[in-house]
Amino acid sequence: MIRRLFARLMPRSGKPGREPRVYGPNDHPIRRNQLSSGALQVIRRLHEAGFKAFVVGGAVRDLLLGIEPKDFDVATDATPELVKPLFRRAFIIGRRFRLVHVHAGPEPIEVSTFRAAQTGDDATDEHGRLLSDNVYGSQAEDAARRDFTINALYFDPATEEVWDYVGGVADIRARRLRLIGPPTTRYREDPVRMLRAVRLAAKLGIAIEPKTAAPISKLAGLMQNVPPARLFDEMQKLLLSGHATDTLRSLRAHGLSHGLLPLLDVILEQPLGQRFIELALANTDDRVRDDRGVSPGFLFATLLWHDVLATWKAASAIGEKSIPALFDAMDNVLERQAKQIAIPRRLEATIKEIWSLQPRFEQRSGQRPFRLLEHPRYRAGWDFLDLRCKSGELEGELARLADWWSRFANAGHDAREAMLRPDEAPKKRRRSRGRGRKHQDDGDAATSAGEPSAE
Ligand code: ATP
Ligand code: MG
Repeated sequence: MIRRLFARLMPRSGKPGREPRVYGPNDHPIRRNQLSSGALQVIRRLHEAGFKAFVVGGAVRDLLLGIEPKDFDVATDATPELVKPLFRRAFIIGRRFRLVHVHAGPEPIEVSTFRAAQTGDDATDEHGRLLSDNVYGSQAEDAARRDFTINALYFDPATEEVWDYVGGVADIRARRLRLIGPPTTRYREDPVRMLRAVRLAAKLGIAIEPKTAAPISKLAGLMQNVPPARLFDEMQKLLLSGHATDTLRSLRAHGLSHGLLPLLDVILEQPLGQRFIELALANTDDRVRDDRGVSPGFLFATLLWHDVLATWKAASAIGEKSIPALFDAMDNVLERQAKQIAIPRRLEATIKEIWSLQPRFEQRSGQRPFRLLEHPRYRAGWDFLDLRCKSGELEGELARLADWWSRFANAGHDAREAMLRPDEAPKKRRRSRGRGRKHQDDGDAATSAGEPSAE
């Protein structure tokens, strides 16, 4: 009580306050009926059991900005062990950062316990990166350990109040993204925050406040220090945000794209590579905004393609056979990539399939086109080919290859037969050189020339 009084009387310093500024229902536009019924149920139950519970983070921010939230996260003062027994279907997940998934509707609601930022020498590595964030704390401490002020707002559906410890509401009103605390320290603690700054500013259409933006290009190198699995999660969010084009442009402007994907910078310098990636991202953004599905595998396949192409061409140029050279190039690029961003294995399989289908589109005689149409990844392979054609990578007659395939796919049996090209020599020649059957299968993929893209 005395501490509270004291905190009220103390003048506000730049540090996050202990007492929140509370905005009543007349001071902000959020209404409880905008929450999902799952989130409402979970919070009601926690309140009944005597705990504090709020919607927190991205959902409050989005609602204040008039954007429909993706999901509703709940923060409470109850520990996971106290939350779990309150619900019929609840699971404690995570080892380092323990939280509860409550199933109360179509999507599980994430319930996390208020946490404090860890302090002390052993809390960070030699670059200042936080190693753990699993210490419970007060609500004020929970607000302070979050990344941006606009991500640290709490909405209580019972009272329809917004609780603000860090000036987030003012920043929402000014449409500005501001880190909580000293920017350099906060980026050192977790360099992914730099990526989040750029991603959220693009997604929300707001400006990064100058002090928050200033250290980014200087500290960009710290991204090297982030575990690859985390980077994959953030990159995936970024790429599937519906604002990938703007975000990537902004990443480059802040010097952050370097080192995320090997050679991405180099690729973006080349007109063809840039055009290919821009087309792919624009296409993805459209799909996300229209609620059509997008495949992360497809997207990573596009981001890395010109790297594969360069490696493949270089090997072909010194006389390696085309298809083995392509497969080597694929492995090589994925291996280099894995050091930076950990692409999950199952996605790697999709990516390789999309790439390895590409030369098969050049085979338009005999039974091979019919077999390719039946391939489970035909559609993704074709979409990829279409981007290659549109970006100007394929030249001459091959520039219309995607078009040939869409006509072929839509034609009746006789028309398809008529479209086939006369059986070309390479198959026989190869046999007479004594290539094995296995290679013939890959050899479905064999291009006519050693050169991957030109005819
Ligand atoms: P999105 O709508 O894109 O999911 P989000 O802000 O909800 O954006 P999440 O990754 O879902 O992003 O994180 C939920 C909340 O957790 C954030 O709003 C923020 O308060 C906190 N948070 C997330 N990442 C960090 C971080 N790197 N450092 C500190 N706080 C973080
Ligand atoms: Mg979120």
